[in-house]
Amino acid sequence: MEKDDYEVVIGLEVHAELSTKTKIFCSCKTEFGADPNTHICPVCMALPGALPVLNEKVVEYAVKAGLATNCSIEKNSKNDRKNYFYPDLPKSYQISQYDKPLCNNGYIEIEDDNGNTKKVRILRIHIEEDAGKLNHNEFGVGSLVDLNRSGVPLIEIVSEPDIRSEAEADRYLKKLKSILQYVEVSDCKMQEGSFRADVNVSVHKKGEPLGTRTEMKNMNSFKSISRAIEYEKNRQIEELEKGNSIIQETLRWDDLEGKTFSMRNKEEAEDYRYFPEPDLVAIKLSEEYIENIRKDLPEMPESRRDRYINKLGLSEKDSKNITSSKFLSDLFEKAGEISGNYKAVCNWINSDIARILNEKEIDPEQIKFSAENLADLIKLIDNGTISTSIAKKVLDELFENPRKPEEIIKEKGWIQISDESQIKEVVKKVLEENEQSVQDYKAGKDRALGYLVGQAMKQTKGKANPKMLNEMFLEELKK
Ligand code: ADP
Ligand code: ZN
Ligand code: MG
Repeated sequence: MEKDDYEVVIGLEVHAELSTKTKIFCSCKTEFGADPNTHICPVCMALPGALPVLNEKVVEYAVKAGLATNCSIEKNSKNDRKNYFYPDLPKSYQISQYDKPLCNNGYIEIEDDNGNTKKVRILRIHIEEDAGKLNHNEFGVGSLVDLNRSGVPLIEIVSEPDIRSEAEADRYLKKLKSILQYVEVSDCKMQEGSFRADVNVSVHKKGEPLGTRTEMKNMNSFKSISRAIEYEKNRQIEELEKGNSIIQETLRWDDLEGKTFSMRNKEEAEDYRYFPEPDLVAIKLSEEYIENIRKDLPEMPESRRDRYINKLGLSEKDSKNITSSKFLSDLFEKAGEISGNYKAVCNWINSDIARILNEKEIDPEQIKFSAENLADLIKLIDNGTISTSIAKKVLDELFENPRKPEEIIKEKGWIQISDESQIKEVVKKVLEENEQSVQDYKAGKDRALGYLVGQAMKQTKGKANPKMLNEMFLEELKK
């Protein structure tokens, strides 16, 4: 048997924290990063006798997510108890949904590995509460529980096992993240755990039934997910080739070692002893309620893309890049409107901003400067106050320590030199110091002009107005 005869099969269960202001069954705040146990009450601490009340916004957000992923919405839904013990779960059960999730049978379109459009089916989306968090030795005294996260609303989006490579898994997750951000139901901050995936992996030979899967829980980095899938695919193929079978189990991915380790055997649904939550009423939705949410869905990336191409004259590739992130798309629209120069904003986003994001390995959402800052930067170039090379330095500053571009250039003394006599002086000096280039130019080597302008830029630390420099060099060289 060859390795190539095998195919990897992947199914993803994504948990996204909803960006409601309050928790799912009480009015405690959902805010991230507060001091431990400061956003808690009898309900989310599970004190005896405390009763949950469902936050209506949670239903609305889940329906939004369902509509945006082409699901049908269940009009007769309910909550169920999922029973298990863990120290971060004070009730010893999680209120979730079992056989009547809010959304069913949707799909997301992604590009497959041959560049064709492919549908990844979504089995279901259900609502549930998050658990608390254990801090192990963080305060030097064993394990302490922080219940701030207990009761933060989640949606779980379960895909069918339709994904066939780590690259497809990556595209699926990025697309899903972008959809949830576009409909504004989750901020999907992976570093804060508000977008995390359980990754199910199996291998089989094409045409044969699906193999036994293993599951890696709670992964929150695209890079680790790709690496983990690749590792797990190879490990499973090796096991099968040795004549062993795959055990259905939960694994832990170790990012430093680059390996998976066995954690525990997989629980089956019956281990959780699901039953309907007796403390909550059923969730009944009217056609009108669902249609009102559908009508109010925000503009999605495809529609924004068409608008950028048809109304703003962007290329297809540029529009696609920008709309792949709601944050960048919003930045583009706001900065374009303020500066009046959409084309320039597009170029900055797709070249220098994209490059810096890449170098720093950060998400667009982590950009701290405002659309106004970017628009101001472009205005300063357009009105000749700074050159493009200075503007790049201002952009670096905006990433490091955002403030008004005017302030940055004043503070750094980066204002462009457009004073004719000052420029003339530099030109004369450069000409004197570069006899050879002058001869070259006169002998027909046009490139020498570029060199001379470069030298003048160097002497003025990039501050000379490039247009004026060019003109003045030409004038002098013609003499
Ligand atoms: P559980 O909650 O027990 O993990 P679910 O039915 O909620 O079970 O989720 C199963 C997940 O595993 C789904 O995302 C599904 O696509 C995926 N899956 C099912 N069978 C396979 C398989 N043979 N290979 C890879 N993934 C699979
Ligand atoms: Zn509470
Ligand atoms: Mg699972």
